[in-house]
Amino acid sequence: MLLRYSYRLDPWPRHRAGLAKAFGCARVVFNDGLAARQEARLAGQPYITDGELSARLTAAKATPERAWLNEVSAVVLQQAQADLNTACRNYFASLSGKRKGPRIGPPKFRSRKDTRQAIRFTANCRFKVLPNGKLRLPKIGDVPVRWSRPLPSQASSVTVIRDSAGLYFASFVVQAGPGALPEADPVIGIDLGLTHFAVLSDGRKITSPRFLRRAETKLRRTQRALSRKQKGSRNRDKARVMVARAHARVADARRDFCHQLSTALIRENQAVAVEDLAVNGLARTHMAKSVHDAGWSAFVAMLEYKARLYGREFHRIGRFEPTSRICSACGANDGPKPLHVRQWQCGGCGAQLDRDVNAAVNVAKAAGLAVTACRAQVRPGSALAQRGEAGTHPKPRRKAA
Ligand SMILES: [Zn+2]
Repeated sequence: MLLRYSYRLDPWPRHRAGLAKAFGCARVVFNDGLAARQEARLAGQPYITDGELSARLTAAKATPERAWLNEVSAVVLQQAQADLNTACRNYFASLSGKRKGPRIGPPKFRSRKDTRQAIRFTANCRFKVLPNGKLRLPKIGDVPVRWSRPLPSQASSVTVIRDSAGLYFASFVVQAGPGALPEADPVIGIDLGLTHFAVLSDGRKITSPRFLRRAETKLRRTQRALSRKQKGSRNRDKARVMVARAHARVADARRDFCHQLSTALIRENQAVAVEDLAVNGLARTHMAKSVHDAGWSAFVAMLEYKARLYGREFHRIGRFEPTSRICSACGANDGPKPLHVRQWQCGGCGAQLDRDVNAAVNVAKAAGLAVTACRAQVRPGSALAQRGEAGTHPKPRRKAA
């Protein structure tokens, strides 16, 4: 299974200059290819194939106008073309309906002003992790890396990214073998809710940790500060960087939290069931601004790949049956309940039910998991102690994804 491991880079000024040049060249190659295909289409000529595009690049490098493309690694340029080819293919597949999911638009020109710049090196261009821990990039140099954890194996490619906050990252693609985890007995259903980040069928309710909430507060504050700055002013530029940094910090903290929670859940349980978020669209329409929103899909994706990695069962259930109507203990349908009703007594069996836990149990049951329903009954909330709540780490550290 292919996984991405990313790390902060600390490029020196000359590395930055080399990277800036490579970002620029990759962008020009991408845009040249896109322009050539658009012109061919407008002129009624046949589609320019990937091979033809590659031949044109080789020819362009021999001309004086594009001779500077030779100053960067050829692989970076090939990969920029590969990106364009993929974008075109995805667009055509989406047009013809071969590609599932929402319609995607045609590839767009890249801009010098894009806040996120990226280039990719593949193994055949001899990028290398040196014994001294630096990352050797062809025609750029040996860039220091903050190794927050070891790479599990040889990487097949590395993408170097400059994000909107001006930070550099190296994202390695590595092959990770299935890890051996001892078999676990429990199975669990998860309800992703608005009052809690997640509610488990065993009655645990998990709120987002304090370090994440604090980062979110900071983000809102910097956003307000930005909105008060005059357009085009130096101070606005500075405030924009502050917002980008705060965004990055929220994203990091959220990813950190999702990783910890998903790892814990996969470790503890043999099977995990979660409702399909696409089906849950109704509840989210009028609360779309929910801060949880972005976290959920990333969290579910993590659960899914970790389940595959560690040989656990993963179920995603389409929630067509209204889980709040049905008693998870006896299956009686009590009818709809307004959102403010958090707990009720089942008319069928008399069980005292908690709305969220009841939903989590129903999710597990819909996936065919045998969870014990009695635990869905109300009991004092015992939340998982998250890092930050315990107060041992005053600051969330930036961590690799
Ligand atoms: Zn009942």
